[in-house]
Amino acid sequence: MRYQVIVAQQSDIGLERKENQDAVECVYDERGDCHLLVVSDGMGGAACGSLASRLAVETISDVFFDDGARTLPVDTRLNRALIAANHRIWSEANSPTPKQPSCRGMGATCVVLALLKDNAYLAHVGDSRIYQIRPDRIVRLTRDHSQIQRLLDGGLISEEEAQRHPGRGSIERALGPREIVKPEIKPEPVPLREGDTFLLCTDGLSGLVHDEEIFSIVLNAPSQQACVTLVGLAKQRGGYDNITVAIARIGDEVTRTF
Ligand code: CA
Repeated sequence: MRYQVIVAQQSDIGLERKENQDAVECVYDERGDCHLLVVSDGMGGAACGSLASRLAVETISDVFFDDGARTLPVDTRLNRALIAANHRIWSEANSPTPKQPSCRGMGATCVVLALLKDNAYLAHVGDSRIYQIRPDRIVRLTRDHSQIQRLLDGGLISEEEAQRHPGRGSIERALGPREIVKPEIKPEPVPLREGDTFLLCTDGLSGLVHDEEIFSIVLNAPSQQACVTLVGLAKQRGGYDNITVAIARIGDEVTRTF
């Protein structure tokens, strides 16, 4: 069984940054009958953060769909794609003749959603997020790799305090700054249901728009309009960071005809 998937995306520089260091890529691979959505938030000095996030989304989609990967289990494909992206960014920053001498230490978050037949597979590094939205609820499917998340988990701060915390935006895991990274791969796939929506975003959205607001906007608007509305809301509230959102909506079942 497989489903129709409607994909939308929006990325915006926001109101305070000089450059959009986020990147987003949505790829449909007809041969593998698979949708891949990747959102990445780059970190580094001028031009380096955007280089890091671009290398992340490019490498992840290239390696996920390379010919050698197609026979592997999806979690293995995700793991090798994220490790390759880490290596690519790290190598670019540390090569003896770097194109960008000031890019040492650059890095990027990533969230990856692979929709294959009737399952969703997830992987991430950092504090970009994946949400699942159903008519009755919104669920955060990723846990940020951040000190703030650990404070939340320990019950030491509330969600409200987390949104105002001075340490927000600082993460404990990223692609690129170190030679070795451990990507978090969701061990079990999420079974798809008609009407499910998945939303990927950077912290420029989740830092300014509450989960309940994301829920109600996504539920009440077509996907592309929801992306535009969410980005607009983050900008109304200051837009201090780049803002990126991607949505995949699971439509009707498609009956395969041979
Ligand atoms: Ca950000």
